Amino acid sequence: MKKYDIIIIGAGAAGLIAAGEAAEKGAEVLLLEKMNIPGRKLFITGKGRCNLTNIAPPDDFLLHFGKNGKFLRQAFFAFPPEKLIEYFESKGVKTVVERGGRVFPRSQKSGDIVKALQRNVESKGVKLQNYSIVKNLVLNENGVAGVQLTASSNKAMGWKLIGDAVIIATGGKSYPQTGSSGDGYTLAESVGHRITPPLPALVPIETEEIIPMVLKGLKLRNVNATLWINDKKATEEFGELEFTDFGLTGPIVLTLSKRVVAALDESSKVEISIDMKPALDVKKLDLRLLRDIEKSSHGSFSILLKDLMPQKMIQYCIEQTGVPANKPGHQITGAERTRLRKWLKDMRFSISGHRPFREAIITCGGVETREINPRTMASRKIEGLYFAGEVIDFDADTGGYNLQAAFSTGWMAGRAAAEYVKGD
Ligand SMILES: Cc1cc2nc3c(=O)[nH]c(=O)nc-3n(C[C@H](O)[C@H](O)[C@H](O)COP(=O)(O)OP(=O)(O)OC[C@H]3O[C@@H](n4cnc5c(N)ncnc54)[C@H](O)[C@@H]3O)c2cc1C
Repeated sequence: MKKYDIIIIGAGAAGLIAAGEAAEKGAEVLLLEKMNIPGRKLFITGKGRCNLTNIAPPDDFLLHFGKNGKFLRQAFFAFPPEKLIEYFESKGVKTVVERGGRVFPRSQKSGDIVKALQRNVESKGVKLQNYSIVKNLVLNENGVAGVQLTASSNKAMGWKLIGDAVIIATGGKSYPQTGSSGDGYTLAESVGHRITPPLPALVPIETEEIIPMVLKGLKLRNVNATLWINDKKATEEFGELEFTDFGLTGPIVLTLSKRVVAALDESSKVEISIDMKPALDVKKLDLRLLRDIEKSSHGSFSILLKDLMPQKMIQYCIEQTGVPANKPGHQITGAERTRLRKWLKDMRFSISGHRPFREAIITCGGVETREINPRTMASRKIEGLYFAGEVIDFDADTGGYNLQAAFSTGWMAGRAAAEYVKGD
């Protein structure tokens, strides 16, 4: 039976870069992918444009990962965004930096990233085998000795495959239709690794209130969203949000979603309050409303609202504030003005749930970082076993941070595993 130096499970961002690096260092590499093609998730990243990294300063960068940013320090400094950009540019993929330091391929095509990674592994002699689902890790008295495929896998090479080192790069549980359905957790757990229970993150959230159809798809820019957990302010985000038929999404909601999911998981009371006029404090907004009401003293309430919000929100505002649409400005009472002001500053939604893993951009949780060596990504439990990418317990905000982490840990795991098998 053919023996490989390194078997890598999963040809996503982390697995592809790990394979290229390990082969570059002289290792014979077998890259096993469950799906029909490698990098299915990579294709859909950044809405098909692939936000591959972010040029934020290093410390800011790691802050986006919360408490597990510390674990990524070594991998990040060994293979930082500028090296990743250089890596792709040297493979013919020009990049461009956009708003917020987000980096994309200049072609705006995620397919160019996948193609560059695939070309690289093929040119270095990596054996890439699709339709191959790893079911088990094979161990011997020294540590890891290979993998076992499911019966439904590509049988060309047999079901048991032998390798001196194995890298688990199976991704998380989000968007399972792309292949990452949590297999890595089962594999790691089967050999004694502890798993922080996976939860969906960067995920749209559901509201108890019914969102009127007319609001579906409406984006509010430059608003502030405050998250309330058990009536206490937990955090806030400024930026863009979007209404959906089930609730809320958009960048600031996705950023808040990790804490929303954790709070719901603990059965806490969760609310989100939207401030549509964050630039105006209560006093200034009140003066502005007084001025607007005076200006529109003979016009109706609904006309007065035109300057205050998108057209699509007017009917919703009328229903929520209970001020009749045709009431002229001069008849609007102080109490009605206060209701409008409060609604503009604190449009509150009770959060009843979140969307499932299949709609979550990332998984929070995974293989516990304290059981992985941050300098090599090697398991501290099983000799010859390595981890890379989202399967590890880290996750970040949107902005290119998650892919950079997959690339940095993949790069490090590939090199370290090659050094291990070569005895360097
Ligand atoms: C819609 C969407 C958009 C996103 N956009 C961005 C973005 O623009 N920027 C950003 O930074 N992040 C983005 N992300 C997150 C980013 O895609 C992930 O963090 C990243 O892909 C993780 O890389 P990975 O290699 O660890 O896992 P994956 O890319 O998920 O790759 C894992 C691979 O392992 C394979 N696999 C799983 N189990 C097995 C098994 N048992 N046997 C063999 N193979 C297996 C899977 O088929 C898959 O190909 C986005 C995510 C989604 C869902």
